[in-house]
Amino acid sequence: MSKPTLATVSLGGCEGCHVSLLDAHEGLLDLLEAADLVHSPFSGDEEIPAHVDVVMVEGAITTEEDLRRLHAARASATTLVAVGSCAVLGGIGGLRNLSPVAEVKARAFGDHVTKSERLPRLRRLVQPLSDFVEIDISVPGCAPETGLIVDALVAAVSGNEFSFGVRNLCDECHREKRALLEHSSEFVSDDVLALMELDEIDPKRCFLEQGLICMGPMTREGCGAKCTAANVPCRGCMGPSRLDYEQGAKTIDALAAVLPAGGIMYMDDLIGTGYRFSMPVSVFPGALDHEGGDDD
Ligand code: SF4
Ligand code: SF4
Ligand code: SF4
Repeated sequence: MSKPTLATVSLGGCEGCHVSLLDAHEGLLDLLEAADLVHSPFSGDEEIPAHVDVVMVEGAITTEEDLRRLHAARASATTLVAVGSCAVLGGIGGLRNLSPVAEVKARAFGDHVTKSERLPRLRRLVQPLSDFVEIDISVPGCAPETGLIVDALVAAVSGNEFSFGVRNLCDECHREKRALLEHSSEFVSDDVLALMELDEIDPKRCFLEQGLICMGPMTREGCGAKCTAANVPCRGCMGPSRLDYEQGAKTIDALAAVLPAGGIMYMDDLIGTGYRFSMPVSVFPGALDHEGGDDD
């Protein structure tokens, strides 16, 4: 009996999710034992084959070409697996939704860009895949934990269900929590501190309790709390524990509760901190009234 077929596609992302998949090393052999890889960004074939059992898609929809390729992937796939926070939540590139396209391009390339017909047209907003097509399995993370991607793909090619926890990251973080997150000016220090500004960090104690912003309470579990285990605060790349939660609003809510009165107003880039990976699934895109997409 022939094996199920598997394809991987990269849209508006950095291909870091593919790198995370490649990090499976020997684990890839198990995946290739279970399925035939028929297409990937590294295979050189531009178009996805007409019928593929499982298609993994990395990256958000940022250009008209991304959208065309997403529809082709959906038409081809029996099971579509969205991998990475770009694909699932819009991702870090979605922070550009706060600015008009012309401003974004000027910031990235300066004022003297020569327009090329070969460049795909930028869409007005960065959007997750689920805004356009039905998604069968979602694996957030930037990049997602290698094991999560492999487990999702193995489940997909085997026709099994795939799911993982929806608690907060704090529930799988092993740092010691001594205080409850409650309204208190003593819960964190008076300033929002950057890691390098602290002389000494207790490597075992909760970051928030030491005055460092950690997105654990606003973020979905599943990565194994690998950053906090490595003494780095969580940045929230798994997105909110449920999509109807506003990750950034929960950040503001949590920090407003623990910072001294008014302290939150002095935070640099509060929006970028709270919505670093989830701006396109927040209430913001619909609320902003920018001009159209690319300037043609
Ligand atoms: S989710 Fe992160 S690693 Fe994956 S494509 Fe997007 S930016 Fe890259
Ligand atoms: S806030 Fe951060 S450091 Fe504290 S328990 Fe949650 S994830 Fe761990
Ligand atoms: S600890 Fe936070 S930032 Fe780090 S991988 Fe997990 S969810 Fe992402």
